[in-house]
Amino acid sequence: MVIYDMKSMRAEEFISDTEIVETLRYADENKDNMPLIEEILEKARPQQNENGCTCRGLSHREASVLLSCEDKEVIERIYEIAEEIKLAFYGNRIVIFAPLYLSNYCVNGCLYCPYHYNNGNIARKKLTQEEIRAEVIALQDMGHKRLAIESGEDPVNNPIEYILESIDTIYNVHHKNGDIRRVNVNIAATTVENYKALKDAGIGTYILFQETYNKAGYEKLHPTGPKHDYAYHTEAMDRAMEGGIDDVGLGVLFGLEGYRYEFAGLLMHAEHLEAVHGVGPHTISVPRVKRAEGIDPGAFDNSISDDIFTKITACIRLAVPYTGMIVSTRESEEVRQRLLKVGISQVSGASRTSVGGYTEKERPHDTEQFDVSDQRSLDEVVGWLMDNGHIPSFCTACYRAGRTGDRFMSLCKSGQILNCCHPNALMTLSEYLEDYASEETKRRGYKMIEEELLRIPKAEVRRVAEENIREIRNSNRRDFRF
Ligand code: SF4
Repeated sequence: MVIYDMKSMRAEEFISDTEIVETLRYADENKDNMPLIEEILEKARPQQNENGCTCRGLSHREASVLLSCEDKEVIERIYEIAEEIKLAFYGNRIVIFAPLYLSNYCVNGCLYCPYHYNNGNIARKKLTQEEIRAEVIALQDMGHKRLAIESGEDPVNNPIEYILESIDTIYNVHHKNGDIRRVNVNIAATTVENYKALKDAGIGTYILFQETYNKAGYEKLHPTGPKHDYAYHTEAMDRAMEGGIDDVGLGVLFGLEGYRYEFAGLLMHAEHLEAVHGVGPHTISVPRVKRAEGIDPGAFDNSISDDIFTKITACIRLAVPYTGMIVSTRESEEVRQRLLKVGISQVSGASRTSVGGYTEKERPHDTEQFDVSDQRSLDEVVGWLMDNGHIPSFCTACYRAGRTGDRFMSLCKSGQILNCCHPNALMTLSEYLEDYASEETKRRGYKMIEEELLRIPKAEVRRVAEENIREIRNSNRRDFRF
């Protein structure tokens, strides 16, 4: 039997199957244990102190009890606490980003992804540096400042040198008042040396979805290619940290295996990172399997309803209160709206999941990784967020100010990051309104900024933010930040 050890560097020990099975049994036994559930809810609740707010988070066992509980009143309280935590740590700002697909060449055989090696029906494409420049200009012209680059795994077509060159290209496109100020990277598990090179290239967060924590399921879903190696994939974040990348993003692809198993595994991974490196995941994404060329989500028997999906999102927020939580345009406007109320802090907007999609007039489908459910323009997404009381934020300040890893976490855990997030959201929204918004969005945006400026608690911060926003409106000066 494999012994569970959250500090172990071996995947099978920090994501111990025995511990997950035991956790699910414990959750089943206690799903109606109201005194215990009350205790867990109380532990999850944010506590105010003179410096801000703190949260204790939940262990994977505690959070699994909440996830198993079917009592409607308890579920409502989980949602309320999730929203309370998100507001306490990050306020009402929602950070916006876009994915940029560089290449869909891939040597892996993942059964749920249309880029898999054996799919002869999908057009293969890899962007040249000139094409990347054009895509970045198109993204800047929409108003994006933060990208997540995506690429299939293919050492011949997409070697690390290609990724590094592409990052350099992206950072060097300065079109009109536009800039990409932060490039997050979502590429296959790689070596410490390559992670060091990515760090030196100035990336923000390194994102790698586990897909599934269930080892047997993982091996079946990845029958061929380097990704077949469960341990190499699961231990990637430790190598990334060893390579100096201190912001890493976790996620599972819900729908592949049983969601309760994935949920416990995901939290155990977060606990492992915290225990070993002193820094938990910078972000957690919650993707679900979606339709794509040759991929029918119905073929996976573990698909989850919107209700369960909402509950999972809220329970993650309670368990890992400090993490950024991301939902993409894989989800519809309706689902995204629901999730924004239970802890999501980042969304993608106006995404195209095809290689070279942003420079096409019509949304292309021939190289897409998945169908995009939310197809609204960025201006529409910005307007929708404001309608729902969220400040659309294009902020990238932390990583550029060196607030990464434990420096970021200590500010976040003590509830102080909000003092940066809130004014930065207002200043970057002002940039968006001046440079890219429709007249209607601009009018509504400035009304929101005016109201939100009054909510900045420190007079000096308010004064500087007001002054910077005046400057943005009256000149081409950009990129102010706290
Ligand atoms: S201040 Fe930091 S945490 Fe807040 S939105 Fe900006 S980059 Fe993100």
